[in-house]
Amino acid sequence: SEELIRRSEKLSLAGELAAGIAHEIRNPLTSLRGFMQLYVKEDIEGTKKLRNEVMLSEIDRINEIVSELLVLAKPSNETYELRDVVHELNHVTRLFEGQANLYNVQIKKELDANLPFIQCQRSINQVFINVLKNAIESMPKGGEVIIQAKQINDEIYIRIQDTGYGIPQNEIAKIGDPFFTTKETGTGLGLMVSMRIIQNHKGTMRIDSDVGKGTMVEVILPIFKS
Ligand code: ADP
Ligand code: MG
Repeated sequence: SEELIRRSEKLSLAGELAAGIAHEIRNPLTSLRGFMQLYVKEDIEGTKKLRNEVMLSEIDRINEIVSELLVLAKPSNETYELRDVVHELNHVTRLFEGQANLYNVQIKKELDANLPFIQCQRSINQVFINVLKNAIESMPKGGEVIIQAKQINDEIYIRIQDTGYGIPQNEIAKIGDPFFTTKETGTGLGLMVSMRIIQNHKGTMRIDSDVGKGTMVEVILPIFKS
């Protein structure tokens, strides 16, 4: 079992990030351009369908990368308001009902009653979305996600635990690095963006994982913005 506490050093990688962005956006663009060229030159039956599918999925990928980067670009000026974490977690869970059903994933919730509202940005939802998405994606053959929320002193602890494939020890230090992904169509930006949002809230993220057993992601958020 490997434990990891994320700190700000992961987040001061602006130069590396810029280089990574250029690289990541250039790849789908190069592919799109190649298909566009073929489009103009020839029109062989059968290759058309594949081309259209590839072009669409490459455009989707660029969109996905850009929208994740936008979260990085402007989280700080968003206002902090009192929000009900339980309500937000229920909302996010509903967003994933379809995908969870499709993958045979049961989502269980153990959310303490009477948790206080916390001062946070709307983008806190993006953290829950990214973590829950990873949990579901780690269980292609089905499994279980348990979402817990409880209060300890002046902090709210949110745990999202899956029974998925887990994270090997040699990969755990790379989690949250820009563009680190082990997925064929991953962006490797979800956890980096999440860590940035949590850092803005003066919170912490902890990951505990066992290969073949599952992963637990814990997000600790202060109730009061100091
Ligand atoms: P992406 O999901 O696009 O790959 P993320 O930043 O969300 O990017 O995650 C980075 C990597 O961390 C994933 O590719 C995966 O290897 C690992 N990871 C994150 N969450 C989990 C999880 N719940 N179970 C297993 N691996 C995970
Ligand atoms: Mg992800």
